[in-house]
Amino acid sequence: MSNTCNQLSVRASSLGELFDCPARWEAKHIRRLRLPRSAAAQLGTAVHAGTALFDQSRLDGNPLSADECAGAVVDALQKPSEDVDWEDTSAAEVERMALPLHGLYCREIAPRQDYVAVEAACESLTFTDIGLTLTGTVDRVRATQDGLGIADIKTGKTAVAADGTVKTQGHAAQLAVYEILAGHAIGRPIDAPAQIIGLQVAKTDKGRRAGVGTIQTARDVLLDDGESPGLLRHAANMLHRGDFYGNPRSQLCNPKYCPAYAGCRWRK
Ligand code: SF4
Repeated sequence: MSNTCNQLSVRASSLGELFDCPARWEAKHIRRLRLPRSAAAQLGTAVHAGTALFDQSRLDGNPLSADECAGAVVDALQKPSEDVDWEDTSAAEVERMALPLHGLYCREIAPRQDYVAVEAACESLTFTDIGLTLTGTVDRVRATQDGLGIADIKTGKTAVAADGTVKTQGHAAQLAVYEILAGHAIGRPIDAPAQIIGLQVAKTDKGRRAGVGTIQTARDVLLDDGESPGLLRHAANMLHRGDFYGNPRSQLCNPKYCPAYAGCRWRK
C-alpha cells in the first residue's frame, strides 16, 4: 500500500484478504511481514504465466503452441521470483502437475474464448471521494454476445467438481472490483457476466479437470447506494483509520498462511 496526499493506493487483488482478516492484511501490506509462498500458490503463478503467453500470442497474431509456452511454466517453478516453501513436494514434482494443466487449458478452454485483453493492467483507478486508489491486473477480458466480460483463472485441488462445476460462491465482490478495473484499463464498459476458469490440480490425468463457471458480480455492493456505504468505502475507512481487527475464524488463520500468527492477540 502507498499513501499520497491522503489517497491510499491498494492492489485490488489484496482486497479479499482485507475483508477476510484485516489484521493479516495489515501484517502483510503495512508491516511487510512475509512468509515463503506455498507450492500451491507457485503452481498457480506458473500456470498463469504459461497460459497468458499462449493467449497473448494469439492476440498478437503470432500464435505459439502450448509446448512453446511451456517454458514460462517451467521458469516460474525453477526460477521463482520469491522464496517458495515446497514442503513435502519439489519444484520438479509441481512441474509434473502444472505442465499438463497448462496443456489442458490450451486445448479445452482457450479455443472457446474470444479474448480482447490478457493480463489487462490498470495503473490506477482513483475514487477521490473516499481517498482510495486501486491498482492491479485482470486475468482476461473477453468479447461475448452480451458485451465484454472478465475471466479470472483459479487453480486448486478443489477448483472443479467431478461433475465439471466450478465453484463461484464467495467471489462476487472480488470479481466486481476486477470488472471496474478492467473497464477503466481498456476504456470500455464491462457488461457481460464474469467467468471463473477453474483448473483442477491433480497428479493424474483422471483427476485433472478444467471448467468454466459464470457469475453475476456484486458491483452494487461495492459502491455507495445513496443510503448505505459500499464495500470500497468500508475498506477506505478501515485503511485511513488504521483500524485492523483480526478474524481468527478465517480459513487462513494458520501459521502456514499468516505471518502475524505467532504474536496475534486476536487468536486468544
Ligand atoms: S493469526 Fe488469525 S486472526 Fe491473527 S492476523 Fe492472522 S489470520 Fe488474522
